[in-house]
Amino acid sequence: MSAELITGGTVYTADDRESVHPGGAVLVVDGVIAAVGPAADVERAVAALTPEQRAGLARRDARGMMVLPGFVNAHWHEMFAMRLPMRGALRPASDREDQVAFMGGGGDMHQISATFDRFDGLIDAMTPDEAQAIAAYSMWTQLRGGVTTLGDMGSLNRPHSMVAAAQALGIRFSASTWASDAICPPDGSRFVRTRDTDGVLAQAEDLLELTARDTSGRIRFRPSVAYVTNMTDELARGMADLVARHDLGFATHVGALRNEVELMRTYYGQTGVRRLAEHGLVDERLMAGHCAFLDEDEQKLMIAGRAHISHSPGKYGPSGESSLTETGVVPALRRQGLDVSLSTDGSSMPSAGIAETMRAAWQMYNEMSADQTEVLPTDALAMGTRIAAKGLRWDDAVGSLEAGKQADLVLVRADDWRYLLNPRPLEGFLWLAGSADVDTVIVGGRTLLSGGRSVGVDEGVLQERYLDALASFSTRALGIPGEVVGRVVGGWTR
Ligand SMILES: [Zn+2]
Repeated sequence: MSAELITGGTVYTADDRESVHPGGAVLVVDGVIAAVGPAADVERAVAALTPEQRAGLARRDARGMMVLPGFVNAHWHEMFAMRLPMRGALRPASDREDQVAFMGGGGDMHQISATFDRFDGLIDAMTPDEAQAIAAYSMWTQLRGGVTTLGDMGSLNRPHSMVAAAQALGIRFSASTWASDAICPPDGSRFVRTRDTDGVLAQAEDLLELTARDTSGRIRFRPSVAYVTNMTDELARGMADLVARHDLGFATHVGALRNEVELMRTYYGQTGVRRLAEHGLVDERLMAGHCAFLDEDEQKLMIAGRAHISHSPGKYGPSGESSLTETGVVPALRRQGLDVSLSTDGSSMPSAGIAETMRAAWQMYNEMSADQTEVLPTDALAMGTRIAAKGLRWDDAVGSLEAGKQADLVLVRADDWRYLLNPRPLEGFLWLAGSADVDTVIVGGRTLLSGGRSVGVDEGVLQERYLDALASFSTRALGIPGEVVGRVVGGWTR
C-alpha cells in the first residue's frame, strides 16, 4: 500500500468539463487517483485514509508547476531503424536539396503503396535484440516528451520486441502489427496481391495472444492495417471479424492524401472510407488516421458511425501533407461533434511530440476558422489526453485526472519568464514550451522521469544500445557500407 499527495500545482484534469484547479492537489493511492481537485477537498480524502496510509504518505511539492494527465499518443509508428537511409542521417548538414516526394504534392501513391508493402521483409531481417534496443530508445523519446500511453498503428519493428521494450520502460502500450497484403503498381488499373491474407491475420492473432498474457495492465492490443491502399477485401473482412470477436478497436490510415481518392477509385473501385464502411469497419471501433480527403457521403458515414479521427497537425508541414488546410474536413467534422484527437504519427527522426502537436492544433485550427475559441488551450490538452484515450479504447483507465483512473501524470515547470504574470500556464506552455520542458512523468503512480531525467533507466545505455543495433541492422539488412555507418554513427557514441 502506498500513497502520495501532490500539492501546490495548477491541476488540469482534462475531464469532460476540462476543469482547472490552481493550487490544486492529487491524491494517489496504490497507483490509482483517489482524489483530485481543490486542495481542501483532497485534504478531506487524505484525512479519510487509514492510519497506516497516512503514516506512509509521500508528499510531492508541485508549486510552480502544471499537473497534467499523461499524454496519449494513439497514432504512432516505430521507425527508428530507418534513421540512416531515405534522406536521413547520411545527409550532410549543408544539404538543401529537399524535394517534393512521397507524402508531398498530394502523395506519390504508387511509391507509398510499394514502400509500405516492403516493411515485412525489413522487420524479418531485424534480430529480436536489435528490434528491442531500437524500440526501447524510440519509445523512450516518447516518454521523455510526456507520453504515458502509446498506440502503435503499425511499425517497422517486431511487435513482440516492442511489447518487451514497453514493459522494460514501464509505459503503457497498445501493440499492433504491420498489415499489408496488396499494392497499387504504376500503370495498372487494379491492385496486386502481395501475400497470403491468412498469414497477415495470423500475425495479429499471435500478437493478441501475447498481449492477453500481460499481467502488468499496461499492454493492450489494437489491430491495424497499414493503409487502405494496401488492403484487400479479404484483409478488411478478416480484421472486421477479429475486432468483433474480441471487442477491439481498429485503426488505419484513410483519406490521408489528395491523390489517394483517385487511386482508390481506379484500383479498388471505391474510396477508402466507403470500403471500410462496406466491411462494417466505420463505427465506434475505428480510429482513422488523418482522414481529411472525404466526400460528403463519407463524412456522413463517419458521423453516423461515431468513428474517431486521429490528426497529426504538428507533422503535416514538414512532410508536405495538407490534411488540415486543403479540405478543412477534420475541423468541420470536429465542429459536428466527431471525436478528433491529436497524435504525432511516426518518423525515423524525433519529430513533433504531443506538446508541439497541441500547439499546432491550437494555432492552426483557430487560424483556419478566424476564431480563437475553436480550440481552447484546454481543448488541445483534452485532444492529446482524454479524447485520444477514448479513441484508443483506453479511457476506462487513463486520459484524465479523475478519481478511479490510473495515476498517469505529467508535471511541467511553469515558473520562468515564459509564464510571468500569465494566469493560464497552459497557454504559456503552448506558446513557448514543448516536449523538452516535461519535468516529471508518472505512470500508474510510479515515477519514470524526474527533473527531465529517466529514473531507473540509464539514458546513455539506451542510446548506446540503439546506435549499436542501428549500425548492425543498417549494414546487414539495408546494405549501407560499414565504414559509412561507422563514420556517421561513431560520431555520436560516447
Ligand atoms: Zn501514421
